[in-house]
Amino acid sequence: MRIDVLTLFPEMFYGVLCSSILGKAVEKGLLTVNLVNIRDFSKDKHRRVDDYPYGGGAGMVMMVQPLYDAILSIKGTDPGAKTIMTSPRGKRFNQAIAKELSTEKHLVLVCGHYEGVDQRVIDSMVDEEISIGDYVLTGGEIPSMAIIDAVTRLLPEALGSSDSLEEESFKQGLLEYPQYTRPAEFNGMKVPEVLLSGNHKEIEKWRREKSLEVTRRFRPDLLEGTRLSVEEERRMQSKNSL
Ligand code: SAM
Repeated sequence: MRIDVLTLFPEMFYGVLCSSILGKAVEKGLLTVNLVNIRDFSKDKHRRVDDYPYGGGAGMVMMVQPLYDAILSIKGTDPGAKTIMTSPRGKRFNQAIAKELSTEKHLVLVCGHYEGVDQRVIDSMVDEEISIGDYVLTGGEIPSMAIIDAVTRLLPEALGSSDSLEEESFKQGLLEYPQYTRPAEFNGMKVPEVLLSGNHKEIEKWRREKSLEVTRRFRPDLLEGTRLSVEEERRMQSKNSL
């Protein structure tokens, strides 16, 4: 997969793209990230990319021309590249969107800044606007990093074992069960007996139960879309009535 990131701060990405799973995906050639500095497309002698908002008001707005030309420099050679604007008003990013984006060959991520971006760029060049949550960040760099990370780990062969993807949160509409590793006892706190039993059927049952419990506690809204067995339904109801 190729991802072009249009930003005023390319240096923010260096650490993220060189570390951990992303670093390995780049090394293995599964992911190519091209950092494009929007300022390089400014025609202003001081390389300005922002201006005052028409109609007045606080802050500055990212100008149409540099950003339009920066996007065009990529879409001009690959019109099929999916262009995403990071924006607090966009569709809320989640695992399903990450999965969908992981099937694209070429993404263009646009990092806004200042009070936002001239609407004409969005109208003419952007396919989709994505938000990473209901809060306002300084720029689209951190949202873009979150999108790149979530999408990359879904690329075939990006993770050591594809089993990790099968079991993790949101995959089955539930949050993941609690995890433990050695030692079996720490400061008097013991790992649940069943996990040491070697009985895979019982372990699976315990994990499913815990997954349901965790989801009920942290994100009960997710349970609405989850199919439960009659036994699970009964257990959840008796817990709800406690
Ligand atoms: N004035 C804008 C508003 O009220 O919606 C906020 C602009 S914000 C300071 C600057 C840029 O950061 C945005 O253009 C966007 O690219 C990015 N950004 C901020 N919060 C975001 C979020 N929650 N999700 C995605 N992008 C975000």
